[in-house]
Parts: sequence; C-alpha cells; structure tokens
Amino acid sequence: MSRVYNFSAGPAVLPEEVLREAADEMLDYRGTGMSVMEMSHRSKAFAGIIEEAEADIRELMQIPDNYKVLFLQGGASQQFAMIPMNLMKNRVADYIVTGQWAKKAYQEAQKYGKVNKIASSEDKTFSYIPDCSDLPVSPDADYVYICENNTIYGTKFKTLPNTKGKTLVADVSSCFLSEPVDVTKYGVIYGGVQKNIGPAGVVIVIIREDLITDDVLPGTPTMLKYKTHADAGSLYNTPPAYGIYICGKVFKWLKAQGGLAAMKERNEKKAALLYDFLDQSRLFKGTVRKEDRSLMNVPFVTGDEELDAKFVAEAKKAGLENLKGHRTVGGMRASIYNAMPYEGVQALVDFMAQFEKENL
Ligand code: PMP
Repeated sequence: MSRVYNFSAGPAVLPEEVLREAADEMLDYRGTGMSVMEMSHRSKAFAGIIEEAEADIRELMQIPDNYKVLFLQGGASQQFAMIPMNLMKNRVADYIVTGQWAKKAYQEAQKYGKVNKIASSEDKTFSYIPDCSDLPVSPDADYVYICENNTIYGTKFKTLPNTKGKTLVADVSSCFLSEPVDVTKYGVIYGGVQKNIGPAGVVIVIIREDLITDDVLPGTPTMLKYKTHADAGSLYNTPPAYGIYICGKVFKWLKAQGGLAAMKERNEKKAALLYDFLDQSRLFKGTVRKEDRSLMNVPFVTGDEELDAKFVAEAKKAGLENLKGHRTVGGMRASIYNAMPYEGVQALVDFMAQFEKENL
C-alpha cells in the first residue's frame, strides 16, 4: 500500500488512524455482526453513533445548549436555499461576496427576497477580505451572510463582520474545526464535511434555537425546514449514516489531538512553513493579501501557465497530488486541512525548492 500526500480541496485527506479504524470495523461494527453501512438508522448501535458524534462536536466547539446540531444532506449548496427559506421573515438579507461560493449563495437567495451585496472583493479576483467594520447593513435585514474561508481563493475572515446586531450566517465548509470558534457570535454555522471532517454527503448545521420555526417561506418543502430535522434529532428520514459515523471518528481524533486550540497551533505551523517559503521564493508567489491568508487553502502561481502545468505534473510523480488550482484561478492550490501532516507540507516545500532550482 502506498498513500500519497493529497492536497485536494475536497473531498480531501482524512486522518489515517480514522480510515484504519473504519476498515477494522467494516465487516462487524463492535459485535453487531454488520457494517455501519448495513444497519438501521433506528438501531441502538446507530443511536449511539449519532448521539456520541453530537456530544463530541458540542464539546470540541463548546456549542451552547441553545444551539441545535443538525446532520443533513444536500451538500453545502443546498444551504444556499435553505437559509433564505427558513430565515427570511422580512424577505431581506445582506451578503458579503468574497468568492464563488458566497456569490452562488447570494444568487440563490435572490429567488426568495431582496438581497443586498453590502461588500465584495470581486474587483481584485477575490484576493482579499473587504473591511467589514462599518458596512451599510440593512435595517430590516433578516441576516448577514459570509463564507468564512474561501476555498478557491484562499482567503479567510480573521475578524467577523460587524453585523450591527443582525444575525450572522456563515459557511465554514473549508475551515470547519480548524481552530476554536465563539459559536455565540453566529446564528447559523454550517458546512459540508468533505474537506475537514468526513466523506461527502453530510452537512453539519449549527443553528440557534430561536431561528428554528414553522414560520418559513410558503412552499418550503418539509425536507428543507430546519424544524423538521431539529424536531427529529436529524432522524426525520434516513440520514447519511455512514458519513456521520466517520465524522464521529474524526471528532474523537480531534479530541485526542488536543482539541481545536491544538489544531489551530498545528495548522498555523503548517501554513507558516508554506507561506514563508512563498514569501522568499524567486519563482513561486502567493496570490492573496497577506493579512487575509487562509490556514487551509494556499493558492500560488509561477506566473507562467506552462511552468505551472509542469509543476503539477512533476509533483504528482513525486507523490504530491491534487495541486492544480481551481479552474477559475489557474496556478496551484495546496489544501492543507487538519488531516494533512506537517511532513506533507514539508515534502511539498522541499519539492518546490528543488523545482525552483531546476527551473529558474
Ligand atoms: N461552500 C464552500 C466554502 C465550498 O468550498 C464548497 C465546495 N467545495 C461549497 C460551499 C459547496 O459544497 P457542496 O459541493 O457540498 O455543495
């Protein structure tokens, strides 16, 4: 068996220990005689899995009791519609557009009400986070929406926007559980798990209880009401059971690593290794304003498309996979999520240094 260093933006690298444990339990989950894939979501064994997963993410993120944790499906993209359908009481919402995913959410919300783009960084290819300390927040806005870490562009909000008292809704798909977070600052925190937590197919929504109501937009499908899932403990219908099981294992792994404060420290070390290399390189350069750099997604370019392609191809031969940048940006992108070991980033930096020597 040979595993590569996988820098994919998602689905992405998972902790090897988790994969091994899942492999060990594949045919017989703890004496049940069946795989978690084969068991009823109403079984006692699965109740244990989902309850423990919820308890563990609550502990990791210190989620207060007045927030629900929902395990849903439909990808992060489904939330682009669920959020307005459930939260737009006044049919007004403010969006901060810092990348393609925020833009998609902004466009989807327009189906449901008056949607204001109160800030954007599109003028410079989303390479920075706009100043959000004093934005023209709409007096009747039902919420202010951000994408906290921009997977494609590699930017991250280092301070949350001043929402002037309005509910903050954040897509944290690509920075979920990468550092400690003050949940009380948000009304809704959500993300697809396929980057930092588990296999594609699960979306985790952490939502303040007062935002979960029957007062949703007319025509909202039962499955797209937060209340449906909150009332049923995420078991209204068959949940993505195997995915939740893997998420649960990753929560345990995170706890064993020392929790989110320890992860932040590790992630900062890994990111610094790569950013410091980029800052002194004569061939490669980062594409993001320094103060807005993500700890998770690191885009960089040589400035020469052919050389970029050569780098990606040669890196692959050296066991460094999925370094091609997003098709809308070009160049390279290294996603260095929680499960990417320091040694993986070191191997990348060593390879870049060697490539620079040979190609400059
Ligand atoms: N938001 C962010 C920040 C993302 O990076 C992605 C996807 N990769 C999405 C939303 C869309 O997620 P999904 O494919 O689960 O709908």
